[in-house]
Amino acid sequence: MLNQRYVKLGKVRSVIRELFEYGNVRKAQIGENNVFDFSLGNPSVPPPAELGEVLSELIANSDPVTLHGYTSAPGAANVRRAVADYINNSFGNHVTADDIYMTCGAAAAITITLCALCNDGDEVITFVPFFPEYSVFAAQAGAKLVAVNTCEGTFEPDISALEAALTPKTKAVIINSPNNPGGVVYSKNCIERLCAALAEHSEKTGSPVYLISDEPYRELVYDGAQVPYVMNFYKNSIVCYSFSKSLSVPGERIGYIAVNSEADERGEIFAAVCGAGRALGYVCAPSLLQQACAKLLGKTSDISAYARNRDRLCAALTGYGYEVVRPQGAFYLFVKSLEPDANAFAERAKQFELLLVPGDDFGVKGYVRIAYCVSADMIERSLPAFRALAESYKK
Ligand code: PLP
Repeated sequence: MLNQRYVKLGKVRSVIRELFEYGNVRKAQIGENNVFDFSLGNPSVPPPAELGEVLSELIANSDPVTLHGYTSAPGAANVRRAVADYINNSFGNHVTADDIYMTCGAAAAITITLCALCNDGDEVITFVPFFPEYSVFAAQAGAKLVAVNTCEGTFEPDISALEAALTPKTKAVIINSPNNPGGVVYSKNCIERLCAALAEHSEKTGSPVYLISDEPYRELVYDGAQVPYVMNFYKNSIVCYSFSKSLSVPGERIGYIAVNSEADERGEIFAAVCGAGRALGYVCAPSLLQQACAKLLGKTSDISAYARNRDRLCAALTGYGYEVVRPQGAFYLFVKSLEPDANAFAERAKQFELLLVPGDDFGVKGYVRIAYCVSADMIERSLPAFRALAESYKK
């Protein structure tokens, strides 16, 4: 018999993917420009021009056998050094190349980290709304994902709810700020209070609760919002970073794990990360991309386009009577559904060719997610449909 856990996982529906596939069929039927597909978080802005230059330069001037060959399992030494230097220069830390593990994006980084930290039956806390794949990653690590509430209206973690959810089985807490799908950026005060709660619980139980910061959207912030670096607030912290969104390269699969140099048992944690990476077959992230990213640390694609989309959508939708949570970061708008059942609302939106993701899979009922990493032109063309959808509820 096959592994039924994986068979089930392979068959379980992903609402986002289903909607995306529906969109493709619909576009073939009625034309690309007549479907307003807000389903996927696939960047629409091209990578920065420097990416092409760096790749050409690497291909022209490197030894091809080395460039396209295996790197060390945790990544090429020069790349890990460059990432560590970048973190230290940007955030004032003291990580070394030995704390960095290059990965195939944040998905691999989180899966490796959870497998490294968790034993069967452990609990991993996250906050609603959350990236649905966390449930899958936690299950792979033998852990149970526990979703904890956030504060009404802001989507910042509710610290009292966190304290109530912490148990002797809690091994880790995953945060994601800027957040998919909420768009919230957790404030310094929030991070401080969250870290104090984790430190107190760790002290009480005598075993650390690890803080995992999932950061694919770190650079995608608006209105000067600051994203606190967790390593400066909590010693037992691990950052899972991805270049997918900052450089618009999600298909290239590149990111890294950074273990805080101050973590208790830092060496053991890194050994477990290497062991999990090995067991999962995630050794040696794509070599060419490792080298390219090492030269582009801190660079981004032109994210101002997302800020313009955010402003236009927030203003227009509010004008039509929608209640939106104004995003401070990432490229998602979480909108209150115009009826209690967000699935029914998303179904009705399809009649107006609007593809919106119901929030239930993110752990929150009564909301839909709009991925506004699309062209400004599509946003403009979609507005009459949003207006008509709102009006259909007034009849
Ligand atoms: N975490 C969050 C919150 C995401 O939104 C995504 C992708 O959309 C990921 C992780 C996975 O990113 P990657 O492409 O780097 O694997």
